[in-house]
Amino acid sequence: MITTCPNCQEKINTKNIKATQKKGIHLEKKCPFCETWFRLKAPLAVIKTIGLSSLLITSLLNMFTIKNELSYIFSSVGFIGIVIALLITFWGKQEKIYN
Ligand SMILES: [Zn+2]
Repeated sequence: MITTCPNCQEKINTKNIKATQKKGIHLEKKCPFCETWFRLKAPLAVIKTIGLSSLLITSLLNMFTIKNELSYIFSSVGFIGIVIALLITFWGKQEKIYN
């Protein structure tokens, strides 16, 4: 996967990112070229988390529900959630972190 550094605009293969740190829902990464820390734009990280959660919640609801007519709706919501999360993972804009 390729991401662009928001500071030096270098294309970075995520395999080459050596330093990462997790802060709440944010995964912060360090650019190997200019040493700047960056992360997925905050609103996108929130939407991505909601998307992943919707898949988890609707899957659980489908496991425990006895109403089959609702399972179709739950599956659709979960599917949309995971598609949004994947789109953000691959094409979401990164932002510089200011301390
Ligand atoms: Zn950079």
